[in-house]
Amino acid sequence: MNQAASNVDPAELAKFSDLAHRWWDPESEFRPLHQINPLRLEWIHGLADLTGKQVVDVGCGGGILADAMARKGAQVLGIDLATKSLKVAQLHALEAGTKGVKYRELSAETLAKEQPELFDVVTCMEMLEHVPDPASVVRACAQMVKPGGWVFFSTLNRNPKSFLFAILGAEYILKLLPKGTHEFARMIKPSELVTWARESGLDAQGFKGMEYNPFTKRYWLSQDTSVNYLLACRKG
Ligand code: SAH
Repeated sequence: MNQAASNVDPAELAKFSDLAHRWWDPESEFRPLHQINPLRLEWIHGLADLTGKQVVDVGCGGGILADAMARKGAQVLGIDLATKSLKVAQLHALEAGTKGVKYRELSAETLAKEQPELFDVVTCMEMLEHVPDPASVVRACAQMVKPGGWVFFSTLNRNPKSFLFAILGAEYILKLLPKGTHEFARMIKPSELVTWARESGLDAQGFKGMEYNPFTKRYWLSQDTSVNYLLACRKG
């Protein structure tokens, strides 16, 4: 586990490292990520056309999205600071025979300094709510993307409804996620995310909401950003 980077909460990394062997079990704690993956993938591909693009996936975990983007024809680099998750991601790519994906243990801030304006597309999904200084990650994402390129974020909104749905509902009632996965104070309002994006030279192109029906156990994208949401940006 890389704790040398400064914008990292070791307890957050440990949560994901402890479960790392289960990243590719679609019935595990990562089931929600497996279920939302086709939805976010199609949305990203529809806007940015991943074919032949240089993509970096920040906070890639076990590679659920990174692997899928490579299968759409992108050259994908997945970065994370949880060593075990990266090993699982690498092993999965090998076993599944996924071409065009590699993984490195690096922070967004370090990669931004190493390779500014190298990527056509940057994705940073369900990660910002786990770091001490999310604005710094947004800035790093903006530095990594080429002018005219796309940056996609997803995170959890912070309001009474999102507390009820994302924490009480998902962790305590439906038990979709382990207790303690999300901390309310770290969740991010769309207005905050858009401000950080704008201050980093990114123009917001549109939001999507992610909704869930506990009876049918289905997710879908909508215009309701009150709980889980995605933001698409472009660098001017
Ligand atoms: N983006 C993936 C995984 C989301 S889980 C997906 O949506 O499928 C959140 C991930 O963020 C975990 O893999 C965790 O290890 C990573 N993470 C947490 N803090 C980080 C940091 N400071 N830098 C890089 N990755 C971090």
